[in-house]
Amino acid sequence: MTDKNTQLIHHPYRPPADYEATMPGMFKSSSILFPDMASVRRRNARDRSGYTYGLHGTPTTYILEERLATLEGGRHCCLVPSGLAAVTLVNMALLQQGDELLLPDNVYAPNQTFSAGMLSRWGIAQQSYDAMNPDDLARKIGPRTRLVWLEAAGSVTMEFPDLVALTRICREKGVLVAIDNTWSAGIAYNSFDLDGQGLGVDVVAHALTKYPSGGGDVLMGAVTTASLERHQEIDRAHRLIGFNVGANDVELVLRSLPSLGMRYQAQDQSARQVARWCAEQAAFVQVLHPALPSGVGHENWQTICQAAEAAGQGAAASIFSVILDERYSQQQVDAFCDALKIFRLGYSWGGPMSLVMTYDLSAIRQPRPRYLQPGGLVRLVVGMESVQDLQADLQQALAAAGMA
Ligand SMILES: *Cc1c(COP(=O)(O)O)cnc(C)c1O
Repeated sequence: MTDKNTQLIHHPYRPPADYEATMPGMFKSSSILFPDMASVRRRNARDRSGYTYGLHGTPTTYILEERLATLEGGRHCCLVPSGLAAVTLVNMALLQQGDELLLPDNVYAPNQTFSAGMLSRWGIAQQSYDAMNPDDLARKIGPRTRLVWLEAAGSVTMEFPDLVALTRICREKGVLVAIDNTWSAGIAYNSFDLDGQGLGVDVVAHALTKYPSGGGDVLMGAVTTASLERHQEIDRAHRLIGFNVGANDVELVLRSLPSLGMRYQAQDQSARQVARWCAEQAAFVQVLHPALPSGVGHENWQTICQAAEAAGQGAAASIFSVILDERYSQQQVDAFCDALKIFRLGYSWGGPMSLVMTYDLSAIRQPRPRYLQPGGLVRLVVGMESVQDLQADLQQALAAAGMA
């Protein structure tokens, strides 16, 4: 070892032991070194009892997996590069040719698009069911149905289905049930124990991009399970596809996790204040927030989310939609969004910045849900700015668009 480059790589120095810190160390490597060939043959990354290759896990990814499993009330977890990858991993792991998938009509739209664009090519059929009508789900589950997705609150339209009734139907019919738990963030309800008596889903998909990141600077997802059998199915597909995540991103999520509960609660309080203020404005004919009495499925939210926490107040994500009076044209709705200065135009949520986006319901929901008033839909995401500033921003934008 005379060459400087070789010496730099194979340096003999070892730091002293007994370094303990409040935060875990970060490990990143593609290669993981083995002391001998016996270890190469013995080691198993499948049950997380050892390390074989960076793609299959490091102490850094195992720590985040453990913490997320705890957060969700599950036991096992796999990390993936985005929330959408969490959804597609569940579908690819659990479905096979000849199966049928049932998606709620309030589903995160890319789940449906993946099903129509990819799963259909692999001989997997899909149907949509009315998330607010458990009888409709019961009717549609057939002999080929293998997996049912749930989502609460629903993307964009924010209705809160009766998750207990829907899950019970799936159990009775013997089909698997998965939930997109991004809205709850593992805080508002426990997907593995929805009724306080152990009735839960099989699989949870979570876009860590939202609250667990909290900074608006990471894209990541997780799939959590409670049973080892389900986990092994997910883990096998995860390994075959080659999904995993970068250590720098994991570090950011690990840094944000301790403040998850406080951020969720504080942003929830702000969002409810803004939503209540919106409900008083004549231009908004409907405010879609499940924690407001006017929210669609409010009673389901009360039952499920108030039971989930000791204080019994019920938590909710800081995201809601408003429907503008139908007399306003799409141009006026766009002008309202353009006039906002603190709410910025953009997708995603759960970060510090408040965001706004309009959605064309006719493109994502056919037919238009019976419980929605006519008019353009605008989704508001409440970040961490002051509530007074956010309300003043909405007020000036309504005036600028000729709506107040
Ligand atoms: C954002 C989101 C996703 C996808 O997460 P990405 O990390 O953006 O891919 C999935 N489901 C829901 C409900 C979401 O809000």
